[in-house]
Amino acid sequence: MTQQVRRLVTDIPGPRSLEMLDRKKSYVADGVGTTLPVFVVEAGGGVLVDADGNHLIDLGSGIAVTTVGNSAPAVVRNVAAQLEAFTHTCFMVTPYAGYVDVAEKLAQLTPGDHAKKSALFNSGAEAVENAVKIARAATGKDAVVVFDHAYHGRTNLTMAMTAKNMPYKHGFGPFAGEVYRAPMSYPLRDGLSGAEAAARAIDVIDKQVGATNLACVVIEPIQGEGGFVVPADGFLPALAAWCRDNDVVLVADEIQSGFCRTGDWFASDHEGVVPDLVTTAKGIAGGLPLAAVTGRAELMDAVHVGGLGGTYGGNPLACAAALGAIEEMETHDLLGRAREVEALVRRRLEKIAADHPVVAEIRGRGAMLAIELCRPGTLEPDAARAAAVSVYCHRSGVVTLTCGTWGNVFRFLPPLSISDELLEEAFDVVAEAFAATA
Ligand SMILES: *Cc1c(COP(=O)(O)O)cnc(C)c1O
Repeated sequence: MTQQVRRLVTDIPGPRSLEMLDRKKSYVADGVGTTLPVFVVEAGGGVLVDADGNHLIDLGSGIAVTTVGNSAPAVVRNVAAQLEAFTHTCFMVTPYAGYVDVAEKLAQLTPGDHAKKSALFNSGAEAVENAVKIARAATGKDAVVVFDHAYHGRTNLTMAMTAKNMPYKHGFGPFAGEVYRAPMSYPLRDGLSGAEAAARAIDVIDKQVGATNLACVVIEPIQGEGGFVVPADGFLPALAAWCRDNDVVLVADEIQSGFCRTGDWFASDHEGVVPDLVTTAKGIAGGLPLAAVTGRAELMDAVHVGGLGGTYGGNPLACAAALGAIEEMETHDLLGRAREVEALVRRRLEKIAADHPVVAEIRGRGAMLAIELCRPGTLEPDAARAAAVSVYCHRSGVVTLTCGTWGNVFRFLPPLSISDELLEEAFDVVAEAFAATA
């Protein structure tokens, strides 16, 4: 196992990483950016090791993907065995058990005890696209409602569903039609209760779209790229009730918030919300590319045979990895671990917030926590401070990520395999970064 220490032996990035960065500049499209250009050679627990031998603490999990850690034992064991057996047949040509096993697990783990079925895909965006296809086929309606600050992916339909122009949409239109945006519950900025924010959103949906035209409402129960916005209590249940009463499919995009991240299997579980369809990806397969749509059997079966699929969707290696990741989550009580991580990180963030009035809010759940930075005493986003703190953390060997419509939110997504000692050390560095940039 990778040595669990933070240790810097060169500047960040070091000479070998800089050399490879030069090659990246020659051969990789500039549109593919990097947050912290150290080239990784090994990772595990809570540490990334780069080509220069630097050991960095990982507070990002490759954007909420390596929830069980990098190269988690059950993932490695399952994938290695699968690799020896076969790598691909295409499930739509000659099927294999791993795909069905993952679908069965998804039926058990996703919210609600109704009959559920799944279809597997390669990426989150592909899952979201397919959830919309299924909702349209099942309802015979076209319109899709999404929310302010939403992030649903980078394909044409999901770009239309994503809120933020730069960098996700800029110059890439025209976008898919029949996508409408409603106001999100954002307690820091709107001061509304969940019921009030839901009434505001439903009024927009009702007046600007109309339930009789609306196939589905797609929402991240805790927003990811949009700033880890946690809707006020009652917002999601009210929206779910309205969808139920109006023959509108409720799709929970749990691609970032799902699979143990929040201390529940899904963020929807926190308020007992039962979505009709759930999209998953990121944390589902310990780093291998896998995504799914899981939902009410009668909705999932509304699509004609051959209407769902893809060459690689539910690839055997990815399915083996997902079964390994779920095994790790279940046998090591990673739900409980996510709650422990929350307690530790919240304690550290509360101290930072007390010392630095630039921290306007601490929010999130489990190992999905964030702080939003605003000029003290205002709600004016302070992206410059977020950037300065990031640079300090990165140079000090702590991998941190920002997010949010204004780029002023720090999000913390440590792998659940990280030790308390490394977490404490990482937040020593974050605290130092706030002090140094005050
Ligand atoms: C990352 C993400 C997506 C897109 O997933 P990809 O695998 O990058 O296509 C969609 N929705 C949410 C909430 C995400 O966080």
